[in-house]
Amino acid sequence: MKVLGIETSCDETGVAVYDTDAGLRAHALYSQIALHAQYGGVVPELASRDHVRKLLPLIRQTLADAGLGVDDLDGVAYTAGPGLVGALLVGAGVARALAWALEVPAVAVHHMEGHLLAPLLEDDRERGRPEPPFVALLVSGGHTQLVHVEAIGRYRLLGETLDDAAGEAFDKTAKLMGLPYPGGPQLAALAEHGRPGVYKFARPMTDRPGLDFSFSGLKTQVLLAWQNSDRSDTTRADIARGFEDAVVDTLAIKCQRALDAAGCDTLVVAGGVGANKRLRGKLDEMTRQRGGRVSFPRPAFCTDNGAMIAFAGALRLQAGQHEDLAVKVTPRWDMASLPVVAGTPGV
Ligand code: ATP
Ligand code: MG
Ligand code: FE
Repeated sequence: MKVLGIETSCDETGVAVYDTDAGLRAHALYSQIALHAQYGGVVPELASRDHVRKLLPLIRQTLADAGLGVDDLDGVAYTAGPGLVGALLVGAGVARALAWALEVPAVAVHHMEGHLLAPLLEDDRERGRPEPPFVALLVSGGHTQLVHVEAIGRYRLLGETLDDAAGEAFDKTAKLMGLPYPGGPQLAALAEHGRPGVYKFARPMTDRPGLDFSFSGLKTQVLLAWQNSDRSDTTRADIARGFEDAVVDTLAIKCQRALDAAGCDTLVVAGGVGANKRLRGKLDEMTRQRGGRVSFPRPAFCTDNGAMIAFAGALRLQAGQHEDLAVKVTPRWDMASLPVVAGTPGV
């Protein structure tokens, strides 16, 4: 089954073709970062308009890269939420119309389920692909969640952030030290040159039981440290390192607790912050020590992309799920309300 995946939930237009026999056939991404940079954040109406401009050319390009014609498609998957309503409607409208014209099924995909399943896209010759039950750490620009994945589609929330998401904390912290938008990856790059231990920040909410997170206080600690410093490049790098270590430690401590609570040793990590090298190293070490494993998507599939949507959609289409003929999106959508995917491990 060849499935076209379309992602337009925020500021990235992503398209891919996933083949349930041959794997990922092609993928393409267009990022609107340059468009929004001058405003210091995503402007929803500009995002929608840019998806309108870029989506059809990107679909043509992806099909050409895959060596496929539009008639070869057996289904279309699109992100239906959570996300910006106008941006979502562009992807949903194109996907639904294309599926109708081709007389193939269309399926609505939950963006965070897409992120969550992205590690399962990767070939792992040594260990095989992770199979439920496992714990997923979702660390993106809008979410920080620990989820017990009992089966594909059966998601139990173990903990989440009470304020800023981890990616949001990276971006805001970068901004207050004068780094250009979006600062998360740049802050991480800067931390590579920083010295560990020069700045020591709190590991929020690790001194009490529970699996929730809070990152907004950390941002304030960084602001005070930065304002009271000499504001040199060396100091900026040292503070970046202190901040990154605090976030990474906090995430690792909570992941360990979540594995204990769920009674398993397999962790999967997804979302943009999953691209962070120090986080990858730390979680690898932590899971090895307990005789378990951690799986990440390749860095390019940690952030938004069409491949994860094509893959998640293919699993659901294969199980017989599809939408009726309405163009419908769900800007706020609880992952726990999703139906389980029949015929997958753990069901
Ligand atoms: P959501 O998926 O919750 O709707 P989103 O789609 O905007 O949010 P993603 O695209 O998954 O989020 O991830 C983007 C976030 O990842 C940004 O906040 C960015 O700063 C962060 N990020 C990307 N690379 C890194 C890195 N190497 N280290 C830390 N953070 C990073
Ligand atoms: Mg993005
Ligand atoms: Fe995302």
